Amino acid sequence: MSVQRTLSMIKPDATARSLTGAINAKLEAAGFRIIAQKRMFLSRAQAEAFYAVHKERAFFDDLCAFMSSGPIVAQVLEADDAVARYRDIMGATNPANAAEGTIRKEFAESIEANSVHGSDSLENAAQEISFFFSGLEIVG
Ligand code: GDP
Repeated sequence: MSVQRTLSMIKPDATARSLTGAINAKLEAAGFRIIAQKRMFLSRAQAEAFYAVHKERAFFDDLCAFMSSGPIVAQVLEADDAVARYRDIMGATNPANAAEGTIRKEFAESIEANSVHGSDSLENAAQEISFFFSGLEIVG
């Protein structure tokens, strides 16, 4: 196992309910170090650029509208095996299918408003981290 970094976003449904602290507490208790973090608005164009891989999907327009509907908190998380471990603690995309103890089981509202994003591979993590953060903003 090696130390990895992954990109997390706390989504607008969660910031609207002031869940940033609760989610961060869960992450830190699970051994993730939050080594960069910023709260910001994504413009529609920025959301479309971030989710470009999904542009052919039926839910793309709704997803980009949702992600630019309120503030998000972008984060870099560091831990052993961080990419897979964060996917585990996030839970399934649809909270109805998410396991007990996961962030989405506890907090998500719907398959779209599902509270958090996490990179799905080490390669995408590097790309997504550089979408939001410069090297100077990451304090490992
Ligand atoms: P993730 O890796 O678990 O976040 O899931 P995906 O990469 O498949 O999808 C990206 C995001 O699109 C999800 O986190 C949801 O916010 C949204 N999404 C996925 N599937 C659907 C869907 O069927 N309908 C809607 N409205 N949104 C979806």
